Amino acid sequence: MLAERSYETEFHAAHLIIDHPHCGRLHGHTYKLKVYVQFDTKIWFDFNDLKHYVDEVLVNYDHTVLGCSYYKQEDVLPIQDPKHVHITLEVMTMTAEMIAQKIKAELTPSLFYKLGGDFILKVELKETSSFGVKV
Ligand SMILES: [Zn+2]
Repeated sequence: MLAERSYETEFHAAHLIIDHPHCGRLHGHTYKLKVYVQFDTKIWFDFNDLKHYVDEVLVNYDHTVLGCSYYKQEDVLPIQDPKHVHITLEVMTMTAEMIAQKIKAELTPSLFYKLGGDFILKVELKETSSFGVKV
């Protein structure tokens, strides 16, 4: 018999979509993530296992700049003026689809280990209350 478990959480992150009229500027979202796993009930799969796997992946997303491959802090002014710090970021486009696919790919090995490859994983990611993707 097949069953489907889901886990819903959120994380905060910044991203941009290069050359997009609005989203081309670095901005942030409170992303709503919902993960669905369909599996055979012959295998014990606890809700907390799913939460643990998802939370483990999201540690690398929460409070980050998504798609940031390079970060360098330069010209740090003396401690008397800590508000003025010059940083350099190299950021690539990260659409909601790309982020959802990346989370799905990073979640798959843990689920494969737990469920032996016999599962269907879907990841739903909402950038706003109106717009989201499901992969
Ligand atoms: Zn956005």
